[in-house]
Amino acid sequence: MADCIIVGAGISGVLTALELERAGAKVILLERAEVGSESSWAGGGIISPLYPWRYPDAVTELARYGQQHYPSLLDTLQLETGIDPQYQKSGLLILDQDEKQQAIKWAEKNNIELQALSGNLPLECEPALNSQTKNALWMPQVAQLRNPRLVKAMRAVINSRRITLHEQAAVSGVRIKNNKVQGVSVGEKHFEADNVLITGGAWSGQILKQLKIETTIQPVKGQMILLKGTPGLVQRIVLSAGRYIIPRQDGRILVGSTLEYTGFKKELTNNAKEELYQSAIEMMPLLSGLPIEHHWAGLRPGSDNGVPYIGEHPDVQGLFFNAGHFRNGVVLGPACARQAADIILKREPLLNPLDYSIEAEH
Ligand SMILES: Cc1cc2nc3c(=O)[nH]c(=O)nc-3n(C[C@H](O)[C@H](O)[C@H](O)COP(=O)(O)OP(=O)(O)OC[C@H]3O[C@@H](n4cnc5c(N)ncnc54)[C@H](O)[C@@H]3O)c2cc1C
Repeated sequence: MADCIIVGAGISGVLTALELERAGAKVILLERAEVGSESSWAGGGIISPLYPWRYPDAVTELARYGQQHYPSLLDTLQLETGIDPQYQKSGLLILDQDEKQQAIKWAEKNNIELQALSGNLPLECEPALNSQTKNALWMPQVAQLRNPRLVKAMRAVINSRRITLHEQAAVSGVRIKNNKVQGVSVGEKHFEADNVLITGGAWSGQILKQLKIETTIQPVKGQMILLKGTPGLVQRIVLSAGRYIIPRQDGRILVGSTLEYTGFKKELTNNAKEELYQSAIEMMPLLSGLPIEHHWAGLRPGSDNGVPYIGEHPDVQGLFFNAGHFRNGVVLGPACARQAADIILKREPLLNPLDYSIEAEH
């Protein structure tokens, strides 16, 4: 019998599995499709919330841990698997100026490097910017990674650990007796464990609802496009009016993303494709004419204010959740995994559990 069954093998499920396994627990990871094939594959991989000052402290603290721990986590993954997730500190330039004072205050309070650039400085920092750009907020410590590569490394590392993975295994129910977890069902098949963790991404709201937990988790579609550029053409991550440009090491340029409340469908629209392309050109006219190589959509596990749910069911012993990371599941991933593992293993939790409980504001 396993110590813990994890439902959903996106970044939340896999990183929590690794934390539990490191502590000696026997883990079964059940994934409806393939490891990381949903939101965790589709994202931009920015290791910071966009407009980070807009979030509650509960999110800032999770992000801080992720920012500190990603370099060593990715080194370990690369050493074990040979796959390089292409972590790099490309820094983040924010062109919006409306919340400048709020941003500066937030950075001072949290001891995070943020500079207001004006005059020639934005263009010196990123020569590809529109030459009209005269002001920007600059966060030099912000890093990025390449999601499909992270997913590949996560998939590979599972094989070398004592984690049992079943893909194409959609959990159809959690088995509970006398308010205690017994395991889960995948169709006719039963898996037994005293602990079950729900990390079902955008589907977690539905799963938890069946277990009588009401959350604000819902799917929020994000469309992205990938432009074929050349290495060095763009060097910084740039954000303006909710749209961003992320330069990858091989010259490809990712442009994101839409925010659509349209249910579980991942349909692509020409409108979104065109709008993303135009936003990119507005920020950097020299991108005009670059071919669009790829266009895709992912479903974020949206919650009202971006604070994830991490904790135990109030009435069912052994039933846990780590879900609702919205736009920040990559940067928050390591801290959420550690917090979930701490709670499951009854260790002193990394952060105050009340901030992420069902009762907290999400
Ligand atoms: C366009 C876009 C851009 C983004 N950019 C960033 C960014 O730059 N930085 C950042 O930090 N975050 C970003 N995000 C958000 C981030 O990708 C997500 O918050 C994160 O991937 C959530 O991870 P997860 O493991 O909780 O969910 P998912 O990756 O969706 O994984 C959940 C898994 O559970 C499985 N599952 C569901 N139901 C069941 C079931 N019944 N049985 C078995 N398995 C099940 C699913 O198949 C899925 O694989 C972005 C997201 C999108 C869509």
